[in-house]
Amino acid sequence: MKESPQAKKLEEILRSSKLVSGGFMGDDPRSLSEIISADAAELSRLGKTADEVAARMQEITDKAIAVLGNWVKIDQYREAKVDEAKGTLVCPWPHPGRFAKRVTTLKLIESGETMFWSDLNIHLIVEHGFFEGYGSAFRIEPAKLVSTIF
Ligand SMILES: [Zn+2]
Repeated sequence: MKESPQAKKLEEILRSSKLVSGGFMGDDPRSLSEIISADAAELSRLGKTADEVAARMQEITDKAIAVLGNWVKIDQYREAKVDEAKGTLVCPWPHPGRFAKRVTTLKLIESGETMFWSDLNIHLIVEHGFFEGYGSAFRIEPAKLVSTIF
């Protein structure tokens, strides 16, 4: 598929370390549209929509923000903690607005398995269907996400 100049430019920004260290694409050789459609297919196989997963991520983040830096019980299976760093992030698409450098860590109490995401991850998933490329520090695997948040 031939990419438009805008899509090419966006992909360049996503691969660069201009906005986040290491970039959003990691070492993923696939194009942006290939990454997005593969994850959309995976999500639909899992029976969830981007809206549903993003809403649940936001709900967990909001609960943990109340006790910033401490673990909070989300329900009988899960605990979460939010850590905040100084500064903000911008959406690479771009989108107006800035996102706090906030990372939510979710832990399954029984297995100890963890998963983490930033506020920007939530935005990228709900607005752009983008879970980031393989090898990116904040890449989110839809299957792991769905199995830990629901
Ligand atoms: Zn955006």
